[in-house]
Amino acid sequence: EERIISSHMAMEDEVVEFSLRPRFLREYIGQSRVKENLEVYIEAAKQRNETLDHVLLYGPPGLGKTTLSHIIANEMGVQVRTTSGPAIERPGDLAAILTNLQAGDLLFIDEIHRLNRSVEEVLYPAMEDFALDIVIGKGPSARSVRLDLAPFTLVGATTRAGSLSSPLRDRFGVVSRLEYYTVEELALIVSRSADLLGVRIHEDGAEEIACRARGTPRVANRLLKRVRDFVEVQGDGIITADSARGALGRIQVDRLGLDEVDHKLLRSIMEMFRGGPVGLETIAATIGEESHTVEDVYEPYLMQIGFLQRTPRGRVVTPRCYQHFGVEMPDS
Ligand code: ADP
Repeated sequence: EERIISSHMAMEDEVVEFSLRPRFLREYIGQSRVKENLEVYIEAAKQRNETLDHVLLYGPPGLGKTTLSHIIANEMGVQVRTTSGPAIERPGDLAAILTNLQAGDLLFIDEIHRLNRSVEEVLYPAMEDFALDIVIGKGPSARSVRLDLAPFTLVGATTRAGSLSSPLRDRFGVVSRLEYYTVEELALIVSRSADLLGVRIHEDGAEEIACRARGTPRVANRLLKRVRDFVEVQGDGIITADSARGALGRIQVDRLGLDEVDHKLLRSIMEMFRGGPVGLETIAATIGEESHTVEDVYEPYLMQIGFLQRTPRGRVVTPRCYQHFGVEMPDS
């Protein structure tokens, strides 16, 4: 079963996603505050002939953190090495990556909040002094030796800045939060992607897709690809407001961009738990997803559109959510 907004990707999607990635800041749509600041930091580092300070990017999945890290490297004219928090299991794994970096390289660590503590501790001296402390020997004769590393820039990405330990967070010179995109920005992204994919699209067709993309470029691009399939097979190959609407109906994404899982999540709170409060674990179990997926992928957007609230006692759906579904609110 295909999930339009899932955090996992099919191989074909990854290839297309790569080809749709903007490569320079000027092609990166939206996020103007983040972009303008980065432009200055990059220019300053280049003028001083230094590496760029370490950068932490945070925000929900699919907003362009990975893309931005590659753009930073392109703008700096350096190479990127990519890894992720869960992929680095032991301190030695990270030490191997760090000692292989060349001067100026950019190291991108996705899901950096998932690094374990012992690995994280290797990062502190590496980020602060470009050094690696290794312990030689065991017991009373053990001693620590410091190795120099080539200067590098760490770019960390996380869906939640809050779950980063403060010693790690404090070592980033630049901390930028990516925001959900506006419909206008998403429509530009959809049009640009359509050009790259060689599909004809009308402005209102791009808008129709943008409206349902949950503020997220990755979702916009995926919706575009599915709509393209429908218009190519069943239409005249041109994406108009009408043909887009038809296709989006077929893949069951409603006019707010909510899909079956969102519907199941919200409906279960309304119908089984009288609107809440209900705990995250219970919700996750009810809809058969992992709780961190519910928390990182589904909830942020549902909160953004004012359908869901997090309270100390659990999740609660709002009157607006009841309205959208045409469900009557329970008497309290
Ligand atoms: P994240 O790392 O935050 O999960 P990605 O960087 O992988 O997100 O972005 C997902 C896709 O969205 C990319 O393939 C890219 O094509 C598109 N994208 C993201 N941000 C932008 C942007 N500002 N302008 C154009 N396309 C974007």
